[in-house]
Amino acid sequence: MEFCPKCGKVLYPVKKEGKTLLTCRACGYTVNVTQSSIESMKMVYRVSDEMHTRTSVIEKKEEDREKKEAERELVQELYKEIFSETYLESEGEGSED
Ligand SMILES: [Zn+2]
Repeated sequence: MEFCPKCGKVLYPVKKEGKTLLTCRACGYTVNVTQSSIESMKMVYRVSDEMHTRTSVIEKKEEDREKKEAERELVQELYKEIFSETYLESEGEGSED
């Protein structure tokens, strides 16, 4: 997951004109997603998924953290959704009818 360099909020992935962008909903900062950043994010998912599994039980007592956790999950789902599409496009295995 990427964070806004201006205000530190989460950057949300969006698709625009066939490109994947990350945008800050707080201040409007937008950055292009490159293939290399996709690769690095893909690795982060694996690590954060493992960490989430381990820490989720402990965090349940803290409501505020739970909220943040929920938002983080939502964003991670968005990232996965958009970036998995991007992988398919770039790999071009196209077996769709
Ligand atoms: Zn921002």
